[in-house]
Amino acid sequence: MNKYVPVIGLEIHVQLKTRSKVFCTCSTKFGAPPNTQTCPVCLGLPGVLPVLNRKAFRYAIKTALALNCQITNSVRFDRKNYYYPDLPKNYQISQYALPVGIRGYLEIENEGEIKRVRIRRVHLEEDAGKLIHSEDGRFSFVDYNRAGTPLLEIVTEPDINSPQEAYVFLQELRTTLLYLEVSDCNMEEGSLRCDANISLKRKGEEQLGTKTELKNMNTFKGVRQALEYEAHRQLMLLEDGKAVLPETRLWDPGKQATYSMRGKEEVEDYRYFPDPDLVDYEISEELIQELRREIPELPLYRKRRIKEQYELPDRDVEVLIRDKHLADYFEQAMKYYDRPKFLCNFLITDILGAVNELKSNIQDVKLHPNNCAKLLTMIDKGLISIKIAKQIIKDLIISDVDPETYINQKGLVQISETSQLEKIVEKVIGDNPSAVEDYRKGKEKVIGFLVGEVMKLTRGKANPGLVNEILRDKIKQEVQDEKIN
Ligand SMILES: [Zn+2]
Repeated sequence: MNKYVPVIGLEIHVQLKTRSKVFCTCSTKFGAPPNTQTCPVCLGLPGVLPVLNRKAFRYAIKTALALNCQITNSVRFDRKNYYYPDLPKNYQISQYALPVGIRGYLEIENEGEIKRVRIRRVHLEEDAGKLIHSEDGRFSFVDYNRAGTPLLEIVTEPDINSPQEAYVFLQELRTTLLYLEVSDCNMEEGSLRCDANISLKRKGEEQLGTKTELKNMNTFKGVRQALEYEAHRQLMLLEDGKAVLPETRLWDPGKQATYSMRGKEEVEDYRYFPDPDLVDYEISEELIQELRREIPELPLYRKRRIKEQYELPDRDVEVLIRDKHLADYFEQAMKYYDRPKFLCNFLITDILGAVNELKSNIQDVKLHPNNCAKLLTMIDKGLISIKIAKQIIKDLIISDVDPETYINQKGLVQISETSQLEKIVEKVIGDNPSAVEDYRKGKEKVIGFLVGEVMKLTRGKANPGLVNEILRDKIKQEVQDEKIN
C-alpha cells in the first residue's frame, strides 16, 4: 500500500424519526405485519397527491445545519426513475438539483488528530419497500410498509483516507444524529445504512484512480472490513498492471469478500426531472434561526469541554458522551457535587449497571441528578458506606425517593461509633481463631476476610475503614496481653 493512498467517500441513508411517512400519513412503526401500513399515496396508485411531512422537512434542515451546510433557499423534489419491484411508482421522490443542504463538513477525531471531512450534500427522499426471498429461492415477497418512509441521504466528499477513518467518521456521524434526535440510528432495523466508494491514488499525484462502489454492509465494522478488502483487491490489480473496473460490488460478510453486482449506473440513467406534484419549498431565515437554536452542543466539542472542565480520563469521557442523556445527567449532578471522578465511576458502574439489569435506560432513571449528588455526599461524609449505596441504587432509580429519607427509614446509616463496633469486632475475633492466627503469622490478606465478617454481622452498615483500624488494634492488643501473662 506504500505507493498508494485509499480515497474513500461515503453515502449514508438515515431514516428520520417521524411517526408518519414523508408524503402520506401512514405509520412508520417498525415490525408491523407486511403491507398493513400502506395507502394509495405510498402504493403509487393513480390520482393521488403527495403532501410533505413538516417534521421530516425540519429534521432534514436541522441535520444539514448541524453538518455546517449551506441551506438552499428554495428546495425542490425530483423524480428518480428506475424500475424495481419494491418501488411501486417506478420512481422515487428524491432531490437532485436543489437539495436541502450543500458544502458542509463534519469534524472527527482520529488518533488524537482533528480532521474535517467535507459533506457534499444532504437531501430528503423516500425509502423503497422491502423484498423478502423464500429460502428455496422459488418465491419473492414484497412488503410496502417501508415504502415512503423519510430518508435523509448524506454524501461526503472523498476526503477519507483509510478504512479506520471511515469507521470513526460513521461513529461520529451516528452520535451527532442521536444528539440531534432526528433518528434512532438503529442499524439492525435498517435506520442507518451506508454505501462506500473507494479508489486508490498514487501518492503525490493528483489523478484519482477508478473507483468501485460497495454495498450491503450492515455494520460499521462491516464497512471497515469491506473497505480493507477492496483496497487490497484494487492494489493487487494495479500491481499486476490490470485495470480496476467501475462497478458496484456487494460485501459478503460470511466470505469476508466483495463480489461484482453490476456495472456502475450513471446519474443520466435515472432521468431525473422535477416532480410536478410537489411545489418548491422556501426555507426562511426565521426557520433556519429557529432550528439552529434546537441544535445542542455536538459530541466532539462536548467531549473536549467535559474532559477539560472536569479533568476526566479519555475513556470515561468516551462512555459519558456516547449517550447524550448520560452526559446530561452527569453535568446536572455536577452542579451539586464536587468530585467528578467519583460521580463518573458511580454513574458508569453502578447506575448504568442497574439500568442495564432493569433493561431500562438513563432517561427513565427516577433518581434526580441532585439526589444522586446527595447520595454521594452522604458517602463522602461517612454517613453511609459505598457498599450500602451500591445495594440500594436499584431501589432509588425506580422509585424517586429522597436518598436521605430512604436511608433513615431503612436504618441504613453507617455505624461509626467505636464502642458499638468494638463489641462486634471482639465477637468476630472470638469466632475465627484460625484466621486471627494466620494474620498474626503475617498473612496480611486475612484482614479483608475479618472485615467482611464484621460487615456481614452489621448488614453492611459498619464503616469499613474504622473496622479495619479496630481489628488491627484488637489483635495487636491480644498479642501484648498474652506476652504479659
Ligand atoms: Zn401511505
